[in-house]
Amino acid sequence: MTLDELQALIERMYSDRDRERGTAATFLWLCEEIGELATALREGSHEAKCSEFADVVAWLVTLANINDVNLTEALQAKYGSGCPGCGQLVCTCDAKS
Ligand SMILES: [Mg+2]
Ligand SMILES: [Zn+2]
Repeated sequence: MTLDELQALIERMYSDRDRERGTAATFLWLCEEIGELATALREGSHEAKCSEFADVVAWLVTLANINDVNLTEALQAKYGSGCPGCGQLVCTCDAKS
């Protein structure tokens, strides 16, 4: 499954409810799923980690959908030619953090 296919699938499955819920409430769901991913990473099984990664991506895609963001285009524009900071395929930015 490509990212475009996933975005279209999520749109087909949930778009009516998602748009009705809106960005703010959907962002809260994403945050909740990020919390579940944190728990899975800390103490979960591999299956639990896989499940929570899937949830986080699905809710991020949902948020993109209801804000009319095509993630493939956004990623290509920002990362498709390398690091946005230095433009290299292997980042040569100075460590800043
Ligand atoms: Mg979850
Ligand atoms: Zn860089």
